[in-house]
This record gives sequence, C-alpha cells and structure tokens, in this order.
Amino acid sequence: MSLGEFELIEQYFRRPAPRAVLGGGDDCALLAPAAGQQLAVSTDALVEGRHFLSTVPADRLGHKALAVNLSDLAACGAEPLAFTLSLSLPRVDEAWLAGFARGLLALADEHECDLVGGDTTAGPLVINITVFGQVPAGAALLRSGARPGDDIWISGRLGDARLALEAFRGAMSLDGRDFDAVRPALELPQPRVLLGQALRGVASSAIDVSDGLLGDLGHVLKASGVGAELDADAVPRGPVLARQPATLQRLCTLTGGDDYELLFTAPPALRAAVHQAELTAGTAVTRIGRIAAGPGLRLHDAQGRPVVHEAASFDHFR
Ligand code: ADP
Ligand code: MG
Repeated sequence: MSLGEFELIEQYFRRPAPRAVLGGGDDCALLAPAAGQQLAVSTDALVEGRHFLSTVPADRLGHKALAVNLSDLAACGAEPLAFTLSLSLPRVDEAWLAGFARGLLALADEHECDLVGGDTTAGPLVINITVFGQVPAGAALLRSGARPGDDIWISGRLGDARLALEAFRGAMSLDGRDFDAVRPALELPQPRVLLGQALRGVASSAIDVSDGLLGDLGHVLKASGVGAELDADAVPRGPVLARQPATLQRLCTLTGGDDYELLFTAPPALRAAVHQAELTAGTAVTRIGRIAAGPGLRLHDAQGRPVVHEAASFDHFR
C-alpha cells in the first residue's frame, strides 16, 4: 500500500529546524531574523516539461529546485535561513521521493537552510520552493544600484547549462566525455551564496543569471537607468564550450539561461575588494564590461569590433 499524505511528509520532509523558532508540523513555522537584519524572501516554481526534463534523476531535481531559490538569496547578498516546499505529485513513488529528498536536503544542509514546512497535493509534477534569508538592514544588493563607470563582473563560467540542454534535446551532439563535463552545470548548479554575502558593501548592483546574460544584464540596466558596453569574448566559458563553433559559443554564453552565476557591478576603485570577495567565497570572478551613462547595451569583441546579437532572454510566454 502506498503512503498517505501525512506519512509521506513525516517520512521524507519532517526535519529538525535549528535556525527557526518553530519548524514544520504546526499551522505556521516561526522565523526570527537576528537583530538589525531584514528578511529576504524569494520563490521559484519548477514545472515538469517546462523547467526540467522528465528524465532528470530525482536527487538532481531536488538539488536544483533549492539551488535556483538560493541563487536569488545570493543575488541579494542574503544568508539563507529556511525554506518551504510545496509539492504537487502525480503519484507516490517512494524511490523518487527518497532521491528527491536526498538531493534537496544535502544542499539545504550545506547552506544551513532549514526546511520548515510546505504543502503536498496530487497533480502534475510541480515543485515550488520559497526561501527566507537574512541580510543586514539596508545592505541588500539590488538591481538598481549600477552607476556609469562601474565595472561589470560575472562569477564562474557561462553557457555550459545551455550547451548540455542543446545536447539533451538532440539539437547537437557531444561525445560522452564532453557531455559528462557540461551536464552538472544544467542539473547541479551551485548557488553563489558566499560570494553574494562577500559582495555586500562592494557591489553596487547584482542579479543572478537565470534567463541569459544579456536579458539579465538588461534588467540591471533598466532598474539602474544606465547602459553598458560588454566584451562578448571576455565572458568566461569552459573548455568544452570553447571548442564549439563561434555562433554556438555566443548563443550559450550570452543568451544561454540556467547559469545561476552572479552578475554584478562595482566601481573600479573597489577592484581589490572584489578580488578579496572572490578569495573569501572561493568563486572566480571575471570583468566583462563597463556601465555607461547613455542607454542601451553595446557588445564588442576582443578587438573592439561591434558584435551583433539579438538580446533575447528566456521568456515563458513567448
Ligand atoms: P494545513 O492544512 O494546516 O495547511 P498541511 O496538512 O498542508 O497543513 O501540512 C501539515 C504540516 O506538514 C504543516 O506544518 C506543513 O508545513 C507540513 N508540510 C506539508 N507538506 C510539506 C512538505 N512537502 N515539506 C515539508 N513540510 C510539509
Ligand atoms: Mg496546507
């Protein structure tokens, strides 16, 4: 006989919640940010067939569902505290649930983010997570703070997740070794939580790259009322992507999506502080452009020649 709703919750999702005043099991969880801290809240849903392929291993899906939410906390410079999990499940598949909970809770433990409640219903497979973090009052990194003259930085490398997705879809082929090298970028993104916190007081603006570099940079430019010049060749990419045709490299690095790296700006006078944050967080950062006073985004290559690229970012309704 399969598990009922409450046994399922008990078995897979009831956990001690040391960072909460009260964890799951009551009508509400209770959270208390430390004195002088603001609560940072973000939510993201993952829908089967839309955000993930039905073939993805359950533990990787659990990891990614939380990772994309932690990435939003990272982009604000917030420290994770807790999260809720709303699950809509087509059936009770215990092997799937065990794997999902394992991947989810391993990442939660890594970031000391407590599962404090949720909701469980039957329906198409949808995973909705809300994360709660804390950030010193007034210190959150926002999209609106970029100023003319600021450097534009990106963490890690871009484009591998999109390359892996194109290979999964059969739009291109990669040999087994190359596929194995890029697949973790798509299925096991690492949210840049430490980097986000280390950039408080250093970065003038930040966003996490979830829908593609150009689109997400566009959000920062719009919110800040500025423009930018970007060196398309300076955008860091891994060795597998670097061996692909130039147009595919541009597609993956500039409009790829699912990267979960941090894009941020900082005044040139703070370059040493940016590199200190890089060391503190153990995540490499690369300077890829400059904020300009005039509106619009101008792309150039390493030789300074203009690059024409459609600044399309991922949009679920287009
Ligand atoms: P209510 O009907 O009061 O909203 P539920 O019956 O939905 O409560 O849930 C019972 C308890 O189990 C609540 O404390 C809720 O937060 C928790 N819970 C439900 N689903 C999950 C889940 N997927 N993960 C973690 N906790 C859950
Ligand atoms: Mg409920």
